[in-house]
Amino acid sequence: MRLFECGTLVPGCAWHTRAEDDAEVVRRAVDHLRGIHGETVIRETMVAHIKSRIREEAVAAE
Ligand SMILES: [Zn+2]
Repeated sequence: MRLFECGTLVPGCAWHTRAEDDAEVVRRAVDHLRGIHGETVIRETMVAHIKSRIREEAVAAE
């Protein structure tokens, strides 16, 4: 799973999201930034910041 923690971008925010692919993580993160942090305009640089902070979440082998 791909994981994005908002606190890596907005210090102090505990929100995070995980999804199967980066595109979905970015979509959710943008929704969050709009709704919670009042970012009305999501610039390309913001998307790049989000993407650069997405990391692979280790999943325990079954
Ligand atoms: Zn946040």
